[in-house]
Amino acid sequence: MTDLTDNQLLRYSRQIMLPQVEIDGQERLLASHALVIGLGGLGSPIALYLAAAGIGKLTLVDHDVVELSNLQRQIAHQQSSIGETKVASAAKATQALNADLVVNAVAHKLTGAELEAAIAAADIVLDATDNFETRYELNQLCWQQHTPLVSGAAIRWEGQVTVFDARNANSPCYQCLYASADGAALNCAENGVIAPLVGIIGTCQALEAIKVLLGLEHNLVGYLLHFDGLRMEWNKFKLPKVANCPTCSG
Ligand SMILES: [Zn+2]
Repeated sequence: MTDLTDNQLLRYSRQIMLPQVEIDGQERLLASHALVIGLGGLGSPIALYLAAAGIGKLTLVDHDVVELSNLQRQIAHQQSSIGETKVASAAKATQALNADLVVNAVAHKLTGAELEAAIAAADIVLDATDNFETRYELNQLCWQQHTPLVSGAAIRWEGQVTVFDARNANSPCYQCLYASADGAALNCAENGVIAPLVGIIGTCQALEAIKVLLGLEHNLVGYLLHFDGLRMEWNKFKLPKVANCPTCSG
């Protein structure tokens, strides 16, 4: 027997028919809570796809408001949302898509104890920020709390995705990938980005999050998936754990 309603069975039927999902998996997704940090180019498709796939609860965190220059790629926001907070705009878009969804919208920057509490309440965290300070803090707190972290980045024509999971002894962390922020602090405002790139990378993040929540084995823990949109090339690199990493070693 299932607790899913007839409506839910129909809505999620194309997913439930996959042997890796089935009714149990869909129920697991509906019982899951994802924390999405950043509702820009990456966070937009992340929030929309997680909502569509039936993740039960989303906490959306962003302190910015929607601007005209965002609309070229941040597809959760409408022209009519200019001037609204990004989280209010994304909450509206995701709930219009799926009324089952519970959304908790946080329109200020989360740091320290507040960020720690938000991570503790979530089953998975998706890093969709363009800010290295936040990325390091998220990495450290997720590692301490054994909460899986799906990390994505996109700039110009290139993007990358990976997953860090402290529950897996072999998993590296964000600091293994970037020991320090030197030279790595690129953002779209200064470097530009082609519109669909953030959709491709954010969608990969949503897919990895669903796989981690379902407990599927072949996820990106220990790998960095890199996409070059100009050459249309995907490459998957091994991402080793750094022996003396201050966050994840020992
Ligand atoms: Zn590490």
